[in-house]
Amino acid sequence: MTDNAQATRTLSNGETIPVLGLGVWQVPDGKQTEQSVSMALEAGYRLIDTAQAYGNEASVGRAIRSSGIPREDIFLTTKFYPGSRDPLVEAEKSLRRLDTEYVDLYLIHWPQGGPTWAWPGMEKASEAGLAKAIGISNFGADELQELLKVSQIQPAVNQILFNPFDYRRALVEACEQAGVVAQAYSPLGTGQHLNNPVVGRIAEATGRTPAQVLIRWAIQKGLSVIPKSTHRERIEQNYAVFDFTLDDEAVTALDALDTTTQTPDALAPSDKWWS
Ligand code: NDP
Repeated sequence: MTDNAQATRTLSNGETIPVLGLGVWQVPDGKQTEQSVSMALEAGYRLIDTAQAYGNEASVGRAIRSSGIPREDIFLTTKFYPGSRDPLVEAEKSLRRLDTEYVDLYLIHWPQGGPTWAWPGMEKASEAGLAKAIGISNFGADELQELLKVSQIQPAVNQILFNPFDYRRALVEACEQAGVVAQAYSPLGTGQHLNNPVVGRIAEATGRTPAQVLIRWAIQKGLSVIPKSTHRERIEQNYAVFDFTLDDEAVTALDALDTTTQTPDALAPSDKWWS
């Protein structure tokens, strides 16, 4: 157990979000999700990222309950599945599955059908106290700007695909300018970037693992980061990233891996699974 949970970013609603959390996409509901979340909480994680689309909210809720950690000490995120119609109704269902009275963060999972239609329902979920903060995911800079024009409550977070190969610098800057905390999903490229030779060379030079290098890079870019693992030793390893710093040379070498030309878009058009 370390005190890494104290590394936080401040959201527009005044609450803080841990810099490092556990993601549970593709972890089956049941024992595997429960164990992953339990192991993470034991390792010191205090941010758990799930979604209605992941189908594992009930297991996340059970692990949080059985941890004995006070609910207010855990930052819990879930996401509105935008194939549904009503964010408020779906938030109520999420809370029943999660067996909790509120989530700390409720995100529109992706801007299916446009960036603005779901926001009034998200605001209702916030006003009803079901979500302390509301935000977005997979929104590009243009979509964020459209949303800002109509929102009564400002989005607190934009969760985006972000790692050295998907270095969306202009998008991160747009988020920063709007006071929106950017959060990095797939920081390891869903595992695909762990064998990259540049990442491997930096890992060797710093005496760290490739996963730690990739997570640390995203933290040094100012983002909150949510790596996923189902293995205890990896969960612990991914959390041990607050006692070293990547030097300028390493950061520059990692920056150069970008394939997005530092885009303001959240995804390439061909990667938007909903359109
Ligand atoms: P990551 O980039 O976090 O990579 C996870 C993969 O890397 C798994 O195969 C895992 O294997 C492996 N891994 C993790 N740690 C290590 C390690 N230390 N050494 C070796 N291998 C390791 O993947 P995700 O795409 O899952 O992204 C993380 C989270 O982001 C998701 O779980 C989800 O919460 C969120 N997300 C959000 C999206 C959105 O649209 N908003 C889209 C995608 C992700 P194993 O589990 O076997 O250890």
